[in-house]
Amino acid sequence: MARYIVLLGPPGAGKGTQAEIISEKLGLAHISSGDIFRENLKAQTELGQLAQGYMNRGELVPDDVTIAMIRERLQRPDCAEGALLDGFPRTPKQADALAAMLSETDSSVDCVPYISVPAPILVERLSGRWTCRAEGHIYHTTFNPPVQPGICDVDGSELYQRDDDKPETVSRRIDVYMEQTAPLIDYYRQRGLLAEIDGQQSIDEVTGQLLAAILKGQA
Ligand code: AMP
Repeated sequence: MARYIVLLGPPGAGKGTQAEIISEKLGLAHISSGDIFRENLKAQTELGQLAQGYMNRGELVPDDVTIAMIRERLQRPDCAEGALLDGFPRTPKQADALAAMLSETDSSVDCVPYISVPAPILVERLSGRWTCRAEGHIYHTTFNPPVQPGICDVDGSELYQRDDDKPETVSRRIDVYMEQTAPLIDYYRQRGLLAEIDGQQSIDEVTGQLLAAILKGQA
């Protein structure tokens, strides 16, 4: 039976970092809606051009567009065993659409680990974040620095600061999260799927607690 895990948390909580680690450990496809939008932006596809304005303003791409993109992605062969979703759903409408999509194959969301980090800490986390050009590996100047400044440890490519990690956009993204995505905490809690994890621990500690929550969810 395919497994679907939704990683929830504000921007800067460490979802991307943890999703990379956990998806590898569990052998699940890692689906990051933000990465898919960024790839499309880089390739200047129609989807990328549509998403660009919203991303630059720190706002959400419209639900219908995002839902169609994820639907297509989940149908690819690497998702046959399920997926770890990072950055999707971000609104109750997206969460309803995900449930409907999965029910078509008699599947459902198994577990929703929620990495919680207080809002004032997020700004510092996002403004120190650097991302690798080639594969999107994530670093932080203080919390997770690369061995050689400016260079990705994994593939040697250049590290850059995402446009939407600049201070003007960061606070907008946090507001958008509070207004549109935070309601998903209760949404999934009411469905008995939420597992809250304190995001202010070391990367290893958060990984350990995420794995424990996911494995418990399957028991
Ligand atoms: P992220 O890398 O998850 O921080 O996403 C970067 C940007 O992509 C967001 O600020 C949104 O503009 C867009 N985006 C990513 N995921 C979604 C989503 N599920 N719904 C709407 N917009 C999204």
